[in-house]
Amino acid sequence: MKKLLGAALGALLIGAGAASAQDYPTRQITMVIPFAAGGPTDTVGRLLAESMGRTLGQQVLVENVAGAGGTVGAARVATSPPDGYTIFLYHIGMATTATLYRNLPYDPLTAFSYIGLATEVPMTIIARPDFPAETLPELIDYVKANTATVTYANAGIGAASHLCGMLFMDAIDTQLTTVPYQGTGPAMTDLLGGQVDFMCDQTTNTTSQIQAGTVKAYATTSPERLEALPDLPTAAEGGLPELTFGVWHGLYAAAGTPEPIINELSDALKVALQDPTVIERFAALATTPSSQEDATPAALEAKLVSEIELWRPLIVAAGQFAD
Ligand code: ASP
Repeated sequence: MKKLLGAALGALLIGAGAASAQDYPTRQITMVIPFAAGGPTDTVGRLLAESMGRTLGQQVLVENVAGAGGTVGAARVATSPPDGYTIFLYHIGMATTATLYRNLPYDPLTAFSYIGLATEVPMTIIARPDFPAETLPELIDYVKANTATVTYANAGIGAASHLCGMLFMDAIDTQLTTVPYQGTGPAMTDLLGGQVDFMCDQTTNTTSQIQAGTVKAYATTSPERLEALPDLPTAAEGGLPELTFGVWHGLYAAAGTPEPIINELSDALKVALQDPTVIERFAALATTPSSQEDATPAALEAKLVSEIELWRPLIVAAGQFAD
C-alpha cells in the first residue's frame, strides 16, 4: 500500500513538474546581478532582461545582490529553487573565484544550470581626471614611485576589475592599496570625485566617460584598438601585453532546472542578442554580443571549464586568495 501511494505521489510530482515546464513562464522572472546598480554587469543585464522579457511574455526584473566580487549573488542563486524563475548573469568571475576563494559555499561547476554565453567586453585602465600621468608608461612610473599613496579601486575579489588590477600589479611587480566597492558603478562615482586614483573597468562603464574626457584613459585590454575609442592604445602598445583579455558573461540558473525551461531561456537569450536595440547599445559601449552558437548551455559550460583551467595557474602564481 505504502509502495502504491509512493508511486502515485511520484507520478503526481512528475506530472506537476512537466506541467510547470510546459507553461513556463507564468510569472515574473528575477535576474540576479551580483554587483551594484549602475555598473557594467548591471547595464548588460538590464538590456538583456528587457528584451528577454518581451520574448518570454513575462517581466524579467533585475535584482542587484552585490558583495564579495559577485560570490554573494552566486551563492543566493545556487540555493534558489531550480524552476527558472531566478536567473543569474555573472562574468569571468565565475571562473576566477573557483581558484581565488578557498571556501566558496557552492561549486561553480556543479551548482548551476547553464543557459548560454551573453557578451564579451574589453577593459580599460582609467584614472581620476587630475591624475598626474598621461600615458600608460607614465602611469606605471608614477605608481611605482608612489606605492604608499596611490589607490586602486575594484569591485571585490572575483570582480573583473580585481583580476585586471592583479595582472597589472603582477606585471609591474608592485603592490598597491586596493579599495573594494560593491561594483564599479559606485567606484566610478568616487573616481570622478577624486576619492580614489585609478581602476581597470569594462568599456560598458567607461566608454562614455572616456569619450567625454571626464576621466584619464590609458589603455584597453582588447587585442586591437576599439572602434568606439580609436585614440586609446592597447595595453600591449603601452608595454603590458599581459593585460590582453576580455570579460565574458554567461547566463545561469540553479542546478537541476528542467531542460525545457533552460532551452526556453536560451532561446530568449539568443533573440535578445539579435535585438537591434541591444546590438546598438552594446556597440556604443564596445561590448560584443555572443554568437547564436555561443548562446547555448553547451558553449557556456565548455567556456567555464576552460577558463577555470586558464586562470588557475596565474592566480596561484599571483598568490592572492580569499576565504
Ligand atoms: N562587473 C562589475 C560591476 O558590474 C565590475 C567588475 O567586475 O569589475 O560592477
